[in-house]
Amino acid sequence: MTVYDQHMHTLFSPDSSETFEEYLKHSPGVLVTTEHLDFNDRFREGKDTLLDYEQYSATIDQLNESYPNRIRKGIEIGYTKESYERIQNYLTGKEFDVQLLSVHQTNEYDFLQPIVKEKDVQDVMDEYFPLLLEAVTRFPTANVLAHFDYGIRLFNVSVAELQGHQTILKQVLQKVIDKQMAFELNTRSMYQYGNVALYEQMIDWYVALGGKSVSLGSDAHSTDYYGYHFEDAIALLEKYGISSVTVFEKQQPTQLPLSKMKKSN
Ligand SMILES: [Zn+2]
Ligand SMILES: [Zn+2]
Repeated sequence: MTVYDQHMHTLFSPDSSETFEEYLKHSPGVLVTTEHLDFNDRFREGKDTLLDYEQYSATIDQLNESYPNRIRKGIEIGYTKESYERIQNYLTGKEFDVQLLSVHQTNEYDFLQPIVKEKDVQDVMDEYFPLLLEAVTRFPTANVLAHFDYGIRLFNVSVAELQGHQTILKQVLQKVIDKQMAFELNTRSMYQYGNVALYEQMIDWYVALGGKSVSLGSDAHSTDYYGYHFEDAIALLEKYGISSVTVFEKQQPTQLPLSKMKKSN
C-alpha cells in the first residue's frame, strides 16, 4: 500500500519532532509535509509560529538528492481575521506544492484549549463556522480546506446538531467547489476524535452540490499516525462514488486513483 498523505508535520512544526528520514523509511511513496503557519499562536502564548522556509527548502532540496524527488513542500495556513495581511506577506515569493487552509484559533484561544470546552457548543459553532467561511472566501490561493471540524473537536456534536448549521456549511462547501479546492478527510478527526458521521454528512452535501475533489490527510505529527485509517476513509469515499483523491504539485491538481492506495498495491 503506497499512501499519499496530504497532511502531516515534521520537526519544522513546533508541535512535532519527527524527521523527514523517519517518514521516508516508513513509507515508500511521495512525501508531502504541511508545516504550520500560525501567527499569534495561542498554543505558544501568542508567539508567531513561522515556518523557516529557507531552512525547510534547503533540507528538502538536499534530501531530494538522496531520495530522488520524493519530497514535496507544503504549508498549513492557520487563518485568523487579524493575521490576514501577515499571511499574505509571508507567502509572497515562496513556492509550495500544496497549501492547506485551516482555522485553529480566534485572537484569544485555540479551539482545542480547555477554555473552549466550558462554552456552549452552539456558541462555538456560531463562532467557528463563520470563520471557516471567511477563510475560504479570503484565501483564493489555498488548495485544500483542512479539518472542517477542528473547532468542534472537543465536543460530541451529533449529525442533527451539524444539520442545524447546514446553511453556512453548504456555503463553505460551495466556496471550496468555486475555488477548485479539495475538501479534506482528516482521518484523525474521523477516527481518533470520532467525527466520521459528521464527515459523511459533509461529503453527502458536497457531492450533492457537485463537489468531486477530496484530499486525504492524517494530520500525523509522527510516523505512528502516517496514513492513519486510510483504508477506512477510502472505503467511505467509494461509498459516495468517489474513486480518486486530488494531489497537488506546484499547486497544480492531479487525480490519484484510490485503487493505487489499496493494500494490494
Ligand atoms: Zn491543523
Ligand atoms: Zn496539521
